[in-house]
Amino acid sequence: MSLKICIVGAKGRMGQAIAAAVEEAGHTVSGGVDQGDDLRAGIAAADAVIDFSFHTVTEEVFSLCAELGKPVVCGTTGHSQEEKAKLLEIAAKTATVWAGNFSIGVNLLCYLVEKAAGILPLEYNAEIVEMHHRLKKDAPSGTALMLADAVLEPRGLNYDDLRHGREGITGERTEREVGMHSLRGGDVVGDHTVIFSDVGERVELTHKASSRAIFARGAVRAAAWSVGKEPGIYGIREVLGLA
Ligand code: NAD
Repeated sequence: MSLKICIVGAKGRMGQAIAAAVEEAGHTVSGGVDQGDDLRAGIAAADAVIDFSFHTVTEEVFSLCAELGKPVVCGTTGHSQEEKAKLLEIAAKTATVWAGNFSIGVNLLCYLVEKAAGILPLEYNAEIVEMHHRLKKDAPSGTALMLADAVLEPRGLNYDDLRHGREGITGERTEREVGMHSLRGGDVVGDHTVIFSDVGERVELTHKASSRAIFARGAVRAAAWSVGKEPGIYGIREVLGLA
């Protein structure tokens, strides 16, 4: 079925990649909304909405989608924990697919990291390293936070155990802490590594993205899947049939 899709953040790097993926999949971009455009009109004219813009925009996008009964796919990252809590309430009012990463490879990486974090004891210290292009506005990346969830949950840890970078007289590393390190530079689309190190050996699990098309195709697939779904918050695993 050919769908009319509204892209929020249409002029951005991801917005342009999504427009190409929409056409590639045989759908139509019914609205390309960026700063200063009429968001309500764009959403009203669409069968589904894909938002890859900025964290401050998400509340209005979710509210309008709930009011107008439109399914929404959100790839925007950088929300604070407070923003997220409020957004989850609004997102549940329509079919919402929300993910920090829409690539199949990264979602496989999360699955493998979750398994490794559960199998390896805490002596296998976990550190997460991500690298992105110099124009990225938030840190750590949404994907790094997905990987953090995959490490923390099976180990019975929480966000207070994340250690964002290290500086000065930090003291010895504890077993509970999970290091989180964000590198920025050049045109890197997105590299993520989770390292589990014990004395004598270490395991490294890595994903490297070389094209934004992988995220864009995943988001378009999620948009097509979301049409006609019951209100609720879904993840990429549901879209891929892995949940
Ligand atoms: P970008 O800065 O190139 O594009 C963002 C666009 O949003 C810009 O064109 C900007 O003008 C627009 N925008 C800002 N305020 C707006 C508003 N009020 N209404 C409409 N548009 C508005 O950034 P990008 O690299 O395209 O990334 C966009 C977002 O997607 C970021 O949060 C990024 O982290 C995230 N991202 C997610 C995934 C994923 O798979 N989930 C992958 C890549 C990037």
